[in-house]
Amino acid sequence: MESIKDIFIIGNGPSSSHTIGPSFAVDIILKDYKNIKSIKVTLYNSLALTGRGHLTDKIIKDKLKNFDVEIDYDINTATPHPNALDFDIVLTDESKVHRRFYSIGGGTVVEKLSSTCKKNHIYKENNLEDILKICHEQNLSLYQYVLGHENEDILDYIKNVLKVMDECVSRGLNTSGILPGKLKVERKAKYLLENSKSTIRIGTKNDQMVMAYAYAASEENASGGIVVTAPTCGSSGVIPGCIEYLRLNNIKEEKILEGLLVAGLIGKLIKTNATVSGAVGGCQAEIGSAASMGAALIMHALGYDNEKIAQASEIALEHSLGLTCDPIEGYVQIPCIERNAIFALKAINSCSLAAVINCETSKINFDDIVQTMFETGKDLQKGYKETSKKGMSKIKIEC
Ligand code: SF4
Repeated sequence: MESIKDIFIIGNGPSSSHTIGPSFAVDIILKDYKNIKSIKVTLYNSLALTGRGHLTDKIIKDKLKNFDVEIDYDINTATPHPNALDFDIVLTDESKVHRRFYSIGGGTVVEKLSSTCKKNHIYKENNLEDILKICHEQNLSLYQYVLGHENEDILDYIKNVLKVMDECVSRGLNTSGILPGKLKVERKAKYLLENSKSTIRIGTKNDQMVMAYAYAASEENASGGIVVTAPTCGSSGVIPGCIEYLRLNNIKEEKILEGLLVAGLIGKLIKTNATVSGAVGGCQAEIGSAASMGAALIMHALGYDNEKIAQASEIALEHSLGLTCDPIEGYVQIPCIERNAIFALKAINSCSLAAVINCETSKINFDDIVQTMFETGKDLQKGYKETSKKGMSKIKIEC
């Protein structure tokens, strides 16, 4: 398994697979060809169906603003991955080049779907059961296990991740108005934060704060701002909500940073053994993975052991199974923003349950639920996987 760094990628929202991934593909093209005359970019399937709402076309045009660019949308040609994009380039000497990329989720782009470059594999273990065994034998926490495998810059990397997340939340909490796009969705993070001080509310003040923080990050994402994938842009509000929960409970920053690395390990296991792409697995793969990571973060930061972390992460993912991806008009707004707030609370509730239920009595393990999520995702009809063809996306909104 490779480094956990690609679970936390910094980039522009609103979608890691539809915005950051294609943006990285353009970077590769610009690096490889210095003599471009014109470029035609073809977006396939999910990228074609929701690319406009997810700002795929905008990021490509922005990055290629110095060239003659044409964007085509092809929803009929089957591709081995639903997020495929082709670059047909004419160079200044009139020679032609064709390159295809797959944006496989969480901002990662590959040219070959089966390409697993062994030299980048820094973890020998590929599932949580094996990792827990090693940790047990060597008396390691999951945090120590991660630290023992990653390069020495990992602590600086995760510090920067937390800094960018905090900046993102801060911008979100201080901005009001309407989000971009034709849905005319009003930002609510600031209002939620103010409302948390009111006595007229259901639930605890802390719940309201957690939701406000999750909204803040998600609204920044929806507006195309700089966010951190965790593990994707669409689900990037869950972890900031969980971090706020820990701060409200006076947990030290050092423990939060450690917990983020453990959360990264959980996200990486899901990305390696299943998917974090809504176009492949539905929203369970994005928001379910985020809740599972959030549970790992909280349990580690609160001082629970490896088995309890695994149990809470399993619970959070198990109860996300079947969740569809059907954003209205292709915007990462409805149901996405509200869903981040609800699933930040789900991560906390999963921890609350795991903290009191004896691990030995648990019949389901994390690795099995990851596989179940993947199989469920494959079985979901295409219309429920980031195509805006079915489910909630069929609801007509008064704009
Ligand atoms: S519904 Fe879920 S998976 Fe789909 S775009 Fe929204 S957050 Fe991402």
